[in-house]
Amino acid sequence: MVDLNYLSIDAAHDMLVSGKVTAEDLVKFHLDKIKKLNPKVRSVITIDEKSAIDKAKAVDTKISEGKQIGLLEGIPYTAKEMFMAKGTKTTAASKILEDFIAPYSATAIRKLDEAGAILIAKVNQDEFAHGGSTENSAYHPTHNPWDLDRVPGGSSGGSAAAVAADMGIFSLGTDTGGSIRQPAAFCGVTGFKPSYGAVSRYGVISMASSFDCIGPISRSAKDTEIVFDAISGLDPRDSTSVDYKLDKPKEQLKAIYYEVGNEVDSLINNQNFNHLEVASTKPIKELGVTEESLAAYYILVPSEISSNLERYDGVRYGARTQNSSNLNETYTKTRGEFFGPEVKRRNLLGAYTLSAGYYDAYYKKAMQLRTMIKNRVNEVLDEYDVILVPTTIEPAFKIGSKADPVEMYKTDVLTVFANLAGVPSISIPFGFDESSGLPLGLQIIGKQGDDKKILEIAKTIQDATDYHKKVGEIKL
Ligand code: GLN
Repeated sequence: MVDLNYLSIDAAHDMLVSGKVTAEDLVKFHLDKIKKLNPKVRSVITIDEKSAIDKAKAVDTKISEGKQIGLLEGIPYTAKEMFMAKGTKTTAASKILEDFIAPYSATAIRKLDEAGAILIAKVNQDEFAHGGSTENSAYHPTHNPWDLDRVPGGSSGGSAAAVAADMGIFSLGTDTGGSIRQPAAFCGVTGFKPSYGAVSRYGVISMASSFDCIGPISRSAKDTEIVFDAISGLDPRDSTSVDYKLDKPKEQLKAIYYEVGNEVDSLINNQNFNHLEVASTKPIKELGVTEESLAAYYILVPSEISSNLERYDGVRYGARTQNSSNLNETYTKTRGEFFGPEVKRRNLLGAYTLSAGYYDAYYKKAMQLRTMIKNRVNEVLDEYDVILVPTTIEPAFKIGSKADPVEMYKTDVLTVFANLAGVPSISIPFGFDESSGLPLGLQIIGKQGDDKKILEIAKTIQDATDYHKKVGEIKL
């Protein structure tokens, strides 16, 4: 009996081509994992069993006819509830979209479809991606496979937990302020936020449109690159999408590492990576943008949220209140009944910061700060090829331990600046927290458009270390 646990995309592909496993068995193996492990991890919202098995059978027919198959053909994956996949439920983990069936597929999902990858399930998240722990889901929290009492991070917590528990080989997430990278770090897997615009946002529910990025969560930088290559590129349906010239780097590269006071600091100092020299180490204060970024982010993002979420009014999309006697009441009561507390908080905050009397004091000022942050990040990236910095200060926290929203917001302190600046950042597993034994993540951040460069560096680091392999030792 072949071992199908924790396969990479390459390994699964080789097994399919050599006939060691059929695509149907590979898909069923992962569906079985969902059935067995999901009651503990609670990552999955909807399973698409029948359509997944049908697609797998089609791949098997192709193989049996001696036809060549692509690298992603027959590879089972999951996607966050933000992604529309035609005919499947797409809830954004909100009650307001509880029965919403996607009428078309997101570009990223369509491209994966065309590449033959098989969507087996849609997974949990914070409601509308507002949060950092997946506790804001209107359905249920998700648990971290390393320690079920802890959060998997968020907002793409369902994706990271599914990948860490081997419920699918990779997942798609969204990252507005860290929602791919932070859960990847908390779950000991690899999460990539590409440059703004590198992956089309078409068909993905909007949070804050000038920040939102789409990317893969997987178990290695190599798998990440395969998925990124499949989903990236210009899309006429998303006018903010960009065809970056995605050249791989050749020469010796120079990095600056910013210390934050966790175990990653000392591990970086003892490492030597091929082609990558850590030329300078400085305290995080000297980057000079982290506190400022949090302040700007939590003004600008709620502002964009309050505008994007206006469409959920009980008329155009989703649920509608049963207790109204006029149109105005339909709007207000629908939103009052079906939005969760964090979504309401952000809508109120955003409506306030965009209002006539406060626009200049808050929104405009935060926009100016955004420009300064962008300039500062680019100034560092003019001197160094990449910035290295841990993804979070602490490992995954206990479920329920950050009830104060501001405490939750503070956990984004190391991730939001990349979104403000629009630059690509990948989080790779890098060491473990001494007291809890839980995984920690390291971000590799490059200039806008340097996506291939940072993927290459991530692969180099993963060739020299084995932190990313530890996820395979999880016992559930
Ligand atoms: N935790 C951040 C927030 O709550 C990031 C969310 C995200 O990237 N979607 O806004």
